[in-house]
Amino acid sequence: KYHEQLVELKGNIRVLCRVKPVLKEDQHEEGQAIVVTTDPNNESALTVLSKGKAKNFELDKVFHPQATQEEVFQEIEPLITSCIDGYHVCIFAYGQTGSGKTYTMEGTVENPGINQRALKHLFNEIEERKDMWTYTVSVSSVEIYNEVLRDLLSKDGEKLDIKINPDGTGQLHVPGLRVMEVKSFQHIKKILAIARKNRITFGTQMNQHSSRSHALLTVTVLGTDLASGAKTTGKLNLVDLAGSERVWKSGAEGERLKEAQNINRSLLALGDVIQALKAHQTHIPFRNSRLTYLLQDSLGKGNKTAMNQPICLSAEDVSSAKLHEISFC
Ligand code: ADP
Ligand code: MG
Repeated sequence: KYHEQLVELKGNIRVLCRVKPVLKEDQHEEGQAIVVTTDPNNESALTVLSKGKAKNFELDKVFHPQATQEEVFQEIEPLITSCIDGYHVCIFAYGQTGSGKTYTMEGTVENPGINQRALKHLFNEIEERKDMWTYTVSVSSVEIYNEVLRDLLSKDGEKLDIKINPDGTGQLHVPGLRVMEVKSFQHIKKILAIARKNRITFGTQMNQHSSRSHALLTVTVLGTDLASGAKTTGKLNLVDLAGSERVWKSGAEGERLKEAQNINRSLLALGDVIQALKAHQTHIPFRNSRLTYLLQDSLGKGNKTAMNQPICLSAEDVSSAKLHEISFC
């Protein structure tokens, strides 16, 4: 249902679907019938075969299984540029565990994903504009697990809270959150490596921690026009969401059940927020989860100097054995 909600959305929210290739580890006894097909002549069409019936979906863009990291990035590159111009951008990877969210966002050493490519593009663009504008880039990174916020750039992994800024602007801030100024692309590569390592460390005690946590990388770009002194504030939120599978169906009890409910709380709340924004409701329920609360100034109208331009990136698993679990079928 959530996926269908997203698919319906047009305008300043776009839904892209990347179909994952069938890998060796995805092959199951049931064989590997192709259940999701893309159409080479129509880049917004997706056909899903379910219980012998074909269902057609229309999205803003569908990437075929062989699409490269670069091709996926090309599609969203204009959004990264708009962030330098002072827009607020959100990019979400949504899909069940194993569908390729982390591959798409983080990527691998040989094949970096959106996060690294976005920052590389950002620094290249800043370099090109240096005669007219000067920019300060800073990053922070948090993880939300079981509705608890932790700093991924700090080894201690202390719990953080979201507070309203005492300066009267109504803006949110997270006391104690590490915000690092980034000077170069090489520097950001090191910072991303710290976040990745901490995410793994925080997760070692918990079963399936990483698939159940949301990882956010937030990049703030402050620009100053050298001639006029005019300022812009752009923000880029790169979000690797928790797996969209329905954990509550697995007979979870006690702590596990609470965890399942909380994980889905952020995902469901995100769906509600998107729905409310789409319906132009006056009340947008940002406060229902940590994820939506944290992103409220990038998803809503909180920012006065820039329009918001969120985008949703969806990844779905095509593995045949998991077809019945695909959330939009
Ligand atoms: P998720 O984060 O959604 O749980 P992952 O990104 O970890 O899923 O992907 C699961 C596995 O599939 C990983 O081993 C990853 O490297 C691989 N994978 C995902 N997408 C692709 C792709 N487009 N091409 C090649 N391998 C992929
Ligand atoms: Mg992942």
